[in-house]
Amino acid sequence: MVIALAATIGLASKSITATGLVLIVVATAVGAGIGLWRARVVEMTGMPELIAIMHSLVGLAATFVGWNGYLDVDAELSGSLLGIHHAEVFIGVFIGAVTFTGSVIAYLKLSARIASRPLTLPGKHVLNIGALVAFAGLTVAFVARPNMGLLIAVTVIALALGAHLVASIGGGDMPVVVSMLNSYSGWAAAASGFLLSNNLLIVTGALVGSSGAYLSYIMCKAMNRSFISVIAGGFGTPAAAADEGEQGEHREISAEETAELLRDASSVIITPGYGMAVAQAQYPVAELARKLRERGVEVRFGIHPVAGRLPGHMNVLLAEANVPYDIVLEMDEINDDFAATSVVLVIGANDTVNPAATENPASPIAGMPVLHVWEAADVVVFKRSMAAGYAGVQNPLFFRENSQMLFGDAKQRVEDILRALDSLDAPVREMAGSSR
Ligand code: NDP
Repeated sequence: MVIALAATIGLASKSITATGLVLIVVATAVGAGIGLWRARVVEMTGMPELIAIMHSLVGLAATFVGWNGYLDVDAELSGSLLGIHHAEVFIGVFIGAVTFTGSVIAYLKLSARIASRPLTLPGKHVLNIGALVAFAGLTVAFVARPNMGLLIAVTVIALALGAHLVASIGGGDMPVVVSMLNSYSGWAAAASGFLLSNNLLIVTGALVGSSGAYLSYIMCKAMNRSFISVIAGGFGTPAAAADEGEQGEHREISAEETAELLRDASSVIITPGYGMAVAQAQYPVAELARKLRERGVEVRFGIHPVAGRLPGHMNVLLAEANVPYDIVLEMDEINDDFAATSVVLVIGANDTVNPAATENPASPIAGMPVLHVWEAADVVVFKRSMAAGYAGVQNPLFFRENSQMLFGDAKQRVEDILRALDSLDAPVREMAGSSR
């Protein structure tokens, strides 16, 4: 990007005024400064929303470049080249505006400023298809007779379509939406590249666009989602069920009782989720794993591919706390082992351990592969309340007979367990000391 900026400013310097040049340099410095500052201060849990808001800026830039292409047409263009130019303007504005509002909605959902559950307007798919048909028709009309009214119309339609497409997608599918918007931002940049006759922008835009699209496809496969359904704003997925509320009685367990359960266990699987990241509980969790292993308990971690808020989130946190790699297993590697496990500790995970995904075809997360924690002999769920997970769906796991809730901040509760394990050991140590 530095080379591209230097080359662009170098080329532009011949044709623009000194004031224009100063404005470009100042704008670049301000933008780079804000970008550096945001990237330095962002919490790991806030990464996806930062990425989403960055994508929105790419979309906004592409929309402006498109509008500029309409307002400032190269006088040498004529005939079919002029037609192609106007098609580029129209398509660039459309992709840019969809990316802009789609990313803003993704940002609002990811930062929990708006609810993550899918918006279900009546006839939502007809609205989406209608917007696409209108876009195709308006493009033909604009190429034949370019005018500002049509450009305003496509901008408004694209802004509404982007917002609606992302608003219609449920929280559980947001990881795919983020990578899809990454792809859109690449295509928006490529469209700007065509308009500006800038090969570098076309190549880098296409690179981001195609790799983002392929990443979305891979994520859809991992999450058992239809790629077409996600890019079409949830087309073909069941309408979101209302929050089912509490589904029976839940049982509570204390940290001391959990310590006793762990003392008697022969095998333990820990399944961390977003709550472990919020609580920054990875260090005491790593300490707990170490202590249990010292006692001869088999301890492993089961990692869901979308646990937390960014791909690999849990792996990074566990590596930070020096958990050995060989006991950190992917979902597919560990899912068959839950049935033979004494205790599962669900540390701040919710959607990724929700049995509704496999058992309730009407659930918004139906079909999403999840960790089969409920198959273990005992499950202890660490969270602060009975609130739903990111997808806004209640979790029947909490009401199972073999599940118990350990309420409170995950870090504090794990520390309580460590203390309780020590005091369980104390009488044993004292007895060993007095017999010596
Ligand atoms: P969820 O987001 O479903 O649930 C996290 C749970 O942690 C909540 O139920 C919350 O309950 C609990 N929690 C929060 N803070 C604390 C705390 N301090 N101490 C203890 N518990 C806490 O987590 P999962 O990791 O299971 O699922 C991830 C979700 O995020 C999926 O729906 C996924 O699709 C989505 N997503 C994932 C992305 C990715 O790339 N990984 C990107 C975007 C979205 P309570 O409030 O009661 O404490």
